[in-house]
Amino acid sequence: MAAYLRLRGAASGLRFWSRRQRPAVANLAVVCSRSMASKTPVGFIGLGNMGNPMAKNLMKHGYPLIIYDVFPDACKEFQDAGEQVVSCPADVAEKADRIITMLPTSINAIEAYSGANGILKKVKKGSLLIDSSTIDPAVSKELAKEVEKMGAVFMDAPVSGGVGAARSRNLTFMVGGVEDEFAAAQELLGCMGSNVVYCGAVGTGQAAKICNNMLLAISMIGTAEAMNLGIRLGLDPKLLAKILNMSSGRCWSSDTYNPVPGVMDGVPSANNYQGGFGATLMAKDLGLAQDSATNTKSPILLGSLAHQIYRMMCAKGYSKKDFSSVFQFLREEETF
Ligand code: NAD
Repeated sequence: MAAYLRLRGAASGLRFWSRRQRPAVANLAVVCSRSMASKTPVGFIGLGNMGNPMAKNLMKHGYPLIIYDVFPDACKEFQDAGEQVVSCPADVAEKADRIITMLPTSINAIEAYSGANGILKKVKKGSLLIDSSTIDPAVSKELAKEVEKMGAVFMDAPVSGGVGAARSRNLTFMVGGVEDEFAAAQELLGCMGSNVVYCGAVGTGQAAKICNNMLLAISMIGTAEAMNLGIRLGLDPKLLAKILNMSSGRCWSSDTYNPVPGVMDGVPSANNYQGGFGATLMAKDLGLAQDSATNTKSPILLGSLAHQIYRMMCAKGYSKKDFSSVFQFLREEETF
């Protein structure tokens, strides 16, 4: 019963913080303990394509890490580098009061937070939990409520920029949560990205990310269609890309990440669409856009079509290829 009352006390205090400003004393206590401990260990959960280089950038900035991934091999190089590897998210929460999660989907994030050995089992009061996965904004809001009940703080901070940007510390973070906590989040996120943008309440970081990726998918499909049509009409693909990039059709997919093999170096289309941002992840993000559009009654005609195209690609063997392989997919489909 005492524990229940302590929990209730913490939860009601946090509700007050989010409605108005947090009480000055409580605010100072949390900020002081974290800033004094600025080089104390940071928890990192999910060391995949993105999490791996992001965690390495935290190491470069002198932060010791407490590491966990369900796939033990993902932790090996961090263990070899002297970082502490633990056996579940709860153990990360026991040892670190700032934790970053970088997981594939909403289900994985729910498991890492609320699962049998999840973060919430041992999270410390005042901890800052930052989720950089791209997940459903509604799930971010639910997780924030659960975290708040434990007297801790949750922020969603999904990223734009792929593995290359993660390596070179050039990610853009879109951050949602209590504004008072933004500076504390920025201290860590600034070690991994060049832009850290505050978007508003919890879930708004995810909202910005979903809108960006829906536009990216539409523009990538459009670029692939235009390039394919031009090639069919007898144009040299490099020349066509050059003309598009000095004309009104120019976009990131045409000038930085062109989907046609041979047009650019150093992009997935130059490497049989290996690496980069997988078609499965793009299909997942478009599914999130679809759900959000349904919930808000927003028409997303091209976004819905893009979702179907990426789902079809995944069903037809493109799931492990970069999303720019839509160009190859269109070439294979061009029998009609
Ligand atoms: P990934 O699949 O390469 O890595 C995810 C890691 O999380 C894996 O190592 C996996 O073992 C681990 N994991 C899964 N469930 C777990 C759990 N419950 N507990 C602990 N570890 C768990 O994915 P990624 O490419 O690194 O992407 C991560 C997130 O970032 C996704 O939401 C994705 O949409 C987003 N994102 C990816 C890119 C990109 O270019 N890859 C770019 C921007 C955003």
